[in-house]
Amino acid sequence: MVSIGMSHMKSTRRQFIKNSLFLGSSFLLSPLPLRAEQKKEIQWIPAYEKLEMEGKLVQRIKQAYAIFENCQLCPRKCGVNRQRGEKGFCRAPVKPVIFSYHPHFGEEISLVGEKGSGTIFFSNCNLRCVFCQNWPIAHEGRGKEVQDEDLADMMLQLQKIGCHNINLVTPTHVMPHILNATRIALQKGLHLPLFYNTSGYERVEVLKVLDGVVDIYKPDMKYMDPDKATKYSAGASDYPEVTKKAVLEMHRQVGVHKMDKQGIAVRGLMIRHLVMPNQVAGTEKFVRWVAETLPKNTYINIMAQYRVEYKAYDYPEIARGITAQEFLEAMDSAEKYGLTNLDPQSIALRNFYRHRQSS
Ligand code: SF4
Repeated sequence: MVSIGMSHMKSTRRQFIKNSLFLGSSFLLSPLPLRAEQKKEIQWIPAYEKLEMEGKLVQRIKQAYAIFENCQLCPRKCGVNRQRGEKGFCRAPVKPVIFSYHPHFGEEISLVGEKGSGTIFFSNCNLRCVFCQNWPIAHEGRGKEVQDEDLADMMLQLQKIGCHNINLVTPTHVMPHILNATRIALQKGLHLPLFYNTSGYERVEVLKVLDGVVDIYKPDMKYMDPDKATKYSAGASDYPEVTKKAVLEMHRQVGVHKMDKQGIAVRGLMIRHLVMPNQVAGTEKFVRWVAETLPKNTYINIMAQYRVEYKAYDYPEIARGITAQEFLEAMDSAEKYGLTNLDPQSIALRNFYRHRQSS
């Protein structure tokens, strides 16, 4: 629940952060003292704001940029010096490249609310799937290079127009910039949940740098079979095992999906799984793994919107959309394994297909 006393608290914290800029970084490492009556007013604040108040956000930024120098930000572990402009598998340059930023209404209902999810689309990608639905951005790196200060300003603009969160799409290869920009934006008044919208191909060691920074994680779980991951995601045979570990770490950090009393997501794990033709995504194995490993009320979005894109035409197994029957089988699996927190839009679509089948 968002506190009714937040505006007073925000100005107090802002003043602290503003003052701390003049007092130097040693002061930044001291936690922000709160008066007892202020503590009572706080019911929810962004994770990164708490970390800043504890004086730990600066350290995380340093840690993140250290990984960047011999880039091990993702499981590809290229080892290139991104600070010096060397490029690895993701082809990302030293600065973040942004394709667009705007309110987005295509996310899950609790992320969209009335004013949209404040989405920033980062160009380049560390996974590079052959069926990529965003290939001009992810594969070709179209977009504009920006400074961290510009990225911070984008976050603030999205907040200003009423968006409910900062939605970082494909953030893995630009994580250090995101941390730095978040802190710059926090100093200027950012107070929205930070939402990490990822392919799931993440290293646990790197996710630990984000512990206490990110409020909402939404990873994909694309495949459960290493051979499919190898074939369709540029040799990423470790995708299933790496992603399982990453999802467990995300859950450890933020728990299950939580909303405020307006139904807006403020914290937690939401997993996306795109149903693919011919059971390429291993949906039954996926829901079984979730049911056996995570709480049954873990938020799961089983998605029907696979479409043939980019190089998928070259692979007969995935060169068609899914059938209604394939989607229904995926949803039936989730029910069979007792998952209780399925995305409402996927339930509506399931009900529509069931109704059509029975009429
Ligand atoms: S983020 Fe890019 S450069 Fe770094 S390890 Fe991953 S693919 Fe390689």
